[in-house]
Amino acid sequence: MNCVNHPDQDAPFQCYRCQNPICVECETKLNGRSICPQCRRRIRERLAAVYEAETRRISYSGGLAGGLLAAAAAAFAWSQLAVLTGHRLCVGALLLGALVGYGVMMGAGRKRSPSLQQIAFVLTFFGVILGYFLIFLRTPGSPHLSLSGHRSAVLGALYAFPVHLSSLGLLDWLLLMLGIACSYYIPRVRTVPDEPR
Ligand SMILES: [Zn+2]
Ligand SMILES: [Zn+2]
Repeated sequence: MNCVNHPDQDAPFQCYRCQNPICVECETKLNGRSICPQCRRRIRERLAAVYEAETRRISYSGGLAGGLLAAAAAAFAWSQLAVLTGHRLCVGALLLGALVGYGVMMGAGRKRSPSLQQIAFVLTFFGVILGYFLIFLRTPGSPHLSLSGHRSAVLGALYAFPVHLSSLGLLDWLLLMLGIACSYYIPRVRTVPDEPR
């Protein structure tokens, strides 16, 4: 068989997508499989279109709102479960981070950019702190209620919260870091692969 692009050339390869025979000159590899120049160009054009769609006309206010909503909802759900089970459930920080990353991306209109990553990063940090604060506030018999001397439980919890934060363990901080990393990773820009591998 001869190459579809070069009728005078022998075709030792076959494109894995269109099955056309291709010569040594036309053949390149994509993820270890032979591909013809036409199919390679089509894949690249499609990826470039996805890239354009994901990185243009980003709604930053939407991303901020989506991330805030995700952070607040996740922090509340986490504290609810933690109070019910009587355990801090530190893995909640990781799940919160994933939800915030996703919320920012979706809120911005399925967009990706370094600024959206930074928004997710900050919102996850505050979301996790809010989660720990809600758990602290809503745990019956928390020491802040008697220690602070404030009338309002919220003010008392705010007053005593830094002490509570300093009691968080290595695992708590580790999962907070992982949650932040997760939220930062999700709205990253996916690059267009163009060189043969
Ligand atoms: Zn092909
Ligand atoms: Zn050829």
